[in-house]
Amino acid sequence: MKYLFILLLFVSGTAMAQKDSLPYIKVLGIAQDGGYPHAGCAKACCEQAWKDAGKRRFVTSLALVDPASNKWWLFEATPDITEQLHYFRQLTGGRYRYLPDGIFITHAHIGHYAGLMQLGREVMNTKDMPVYVLPRMKTYLENNGPWSQLVSLNNIRLTALQVAGKDMKSGFMGQTLADGILVSAFQVPHRDEFSETAGFHISLRSRQYLFIPDIDKWEKWDNSIIDMVAAVDVALLDATFFADGELPGRSISEVPHPFVSETMRLFSTHTARPGLGSRIHFIHFNHTNPLLRDPKTRKEVTKQGFHLAEQGEDL
Ligand SMILES: [Zn+2]
Ligand SMILES: [Zn+2]
Ligand SMILES: [Zn+2]
Repeated sequence: MKYLFILLLFVSGTAMAQKDSLPYIKVLGIAQDGGYPHAGCAKACCEQAWKDAGKRRFVTSLALVDPASNKWWLFEATPDITEQLHYFRQLTGGRYRYLPDGIFITHAHIGHYAGLMQLGREVMNTKDMPVYVLPRMKTYLENNGPWSQLVSLNNIRLTALQVAGKDMKSGFMGQTLADGILVSAFQVPHRDEFSETAGFHISLRSRQYLFIPDIDKWEKWDNSIIDMVAAVDVALLDATFFADGELPGRSISEVPHPFVSETMRLFSTHTARPGLGSRIHFIHFNHTNPLLRDPKTRKEVTKQGFHLAEQGEDL
């Protein structure tokens, strides 16, 4: 009896140690490019967040953490990068290097890459920080200041990611970061003024993740978001706006995104594959999105099995 107890302790101890060494994703921010509260907003949407610092949220960013190799990688260099690097250190108790082992960036809209400026001579003066981007984004950073100075002074070392084939049926060609950790990029339709826009497929041993913080509309894409979500365990998807009419006095067609209400409808009416919605974690909330503050709207979404990404959570 005593031996059985010791054996059980040993087995559960080993399982726990294994679980502790598995790679995972940590959410470092959930807001749209402008953060929450938003510059210049004196409306009801940001009122509580101005008053109460606890209600503020950083711009969308993820950490890929690998306890086995003691390494971590940052997804998006946001305008909140100063806070987010410190936040990551606090959440992980200083176990990892202060700076990530590499940075993946989706596109050249300010919320996704402007934080690179903190890597330059004026601040951290990093040496050869690996930065992974799509080819047009690489050319953009190399040829436009102040980013070009990060390249010429070797603060960052750019790698152009190969884009997965159009139908993605042939699988992903990715960047192997550590044992069992593979990140692949694919292109999504978005307002591509300075760069194309990437989405990422993150493969962590037996768990697969999808990260699409910005896309115009699902129907503009020649891939099926239903098939993409069906192929992963966790899909972090664009939730910029909850529904039409959210930007008074401004046409939403200038800044198209799939409304959360549309994505919910798409997945709840797709009866051929029920339950896929529970893999979706909405992220990249605009300050106007009631999901940032209104419990009733939040419940409407979670009641149907969808998740809302939370700053600081592990996935
Ligand atoms: Zn964005
Ligand atoms: Zn606001
Ligand atoms: Zn964008």
